[in-house]
Amino acid sequence: MSDDLLRIRRIKDALSRLGPILPGSISTQWNVCGKPGCRCKHPKKPQKHGPYYQLSFTVDGKSSSLFVKKEDLKTLRDCAKRYQKFRALNTRLLSAYIQWHETAVFIKQRIRRMNNLSAEKKESLKRAIEQKSGLVDGDDRRWNGCS
Ligand SMILES: [Zn+2]
Repeated sequence: MSDDLLRIRRIKDALSRLGPILPGSISTQWNVCGKPGCRCKHPKKPQKHGPYYQLSFTVDGKSSSLFVKKEDLKTLRDCAKRYQKFRALNTRLLSAYIQWHETAVFIKQRIRRMNNLSAEKKESLKRAIEQKSGLVDGDDRRWNGCS
């Protein structure tokens, strides 16, 4: 298997091991209620209610939020942290596929040029390509499937 495909496989493996994810970030809030005489409206030392925790996120262009119970805070923070990892892995996966495609294009160009060369030259060129890419023999069906 070529370096490109190994990289893609490793990133997909990491994605499948990632565990539950949630988008967005968790904020802490302190509220003031409407009750007259409540400690949150004390004229000198107001003590607001809270803390309350809220997960805010945007999915498919739509912003939303969820209230988070204190006992769920750690779990949801872990999920939100994994989301950052998920995004980083997605970016790496897209880059790896682009690299894979570029390698495939490079190899196709080299092979096309071989038609004008002597058999001896073709053979040495093919070896050079194989060393560079690792794609020519074993994996060519895979990248042909992608083009
Ligand atoms: Zn109050």
